[in-house]
Amino acid sequence: MKKIRLSGRSKDELHQMSSTYNQMIDRLRESFTRQEQFVSDASHELKTPISVIKSYTQLLNRWGRKKPEVFEEATEAIQTETDRMDAMIRQMLTLARNQKSDHLKLESVNLTALLQDCVRAFSVTYDRDIQLFSTENKLEGRVDREKINQVFYILIDNACKYSQDEVHVYTDSSEGYIQVKVQDFGEGIPEADVERIFDRFYRVDKARSRDNGGTGLGLSIAKHIVESHNGIITVDTELGNGTAFTVKLPKS
Ligand code: ADP
Repeated sequence: MKKIRLSGRSKDELHQMSSTYNQMIDRLRESFTRQEQFVSDASHELKTPISVIKSYTQLLNRWGRKKPEVFEEATEAIQTETDRMDAMIRQMLTLARNQKSDHLKLESVNLTALLQDCVRAFSVTYDRDIQLFSTENKLEGRVDREKINQVFYILIDNACKYSQDEVHVYTDSSEGYIQVKVQDFGEGIPEADVERIFDRFYRVDKARSRDNGGTGLGLSIAKHIVESHNGIITVDTELGNGTAFTVKLPKS
């Protein structure tokens, strides 16, 4: 361990050192608590699909050979729950990886083109009318292409999952900022929940999110990515009328 020479230092210097040391300890403590909470939340979230798989395996063992309808129901449920765990573990790894290293591979990216690809893909997946309104054909941003693509993916996917009608995506650029807004006309988010939707594993309606294959991790991943680009993500929502997520990224 490195030895720090204390003698000969002024009272102010010692005071400064002790406060820096205390700040470091506080940050470490905070980080451990966050880590602990994450592990506890993650285990809790994984328990549900595991217990569903367990029950269906027992059912399969008991009746699967005699009753084809039980065989079908059980194998389908096991497949769904396995897919859910797979999605959850992938997102947890993404979150952990992003948090471990905020290293961004910044490059000049045409965000309009990136959004066009995203919109095209989701229009097909959800068979939905998704419209892109762009003020410029080529909106250039200095971003990590893969990570920002992930943000667009999460927001457009959510807009499709939590609404039935069309989805509008707007891009704009203002002083020093590039702005992307994903607007849906769906159910909206209750006021009491808005503050928490960016928290890990938070879902307004757990059962609904589960049915949609949601994990409750998408928005926390999106927020982390946007903030690591020194940007901000905000939400504007009205119950019964829809939700708009806006991402603001610095131009360079
Ligand atoms: P999930 O995998 O459950 O969609 P997210 O972290 O992406 O997790 O979102 C957290 C919660 O925020 C969702 O479960 C949902 O309740 C709410 N939410 C997110 N986007 C929308 C939206 N466009 N409209 C209504 N609710 C939304």
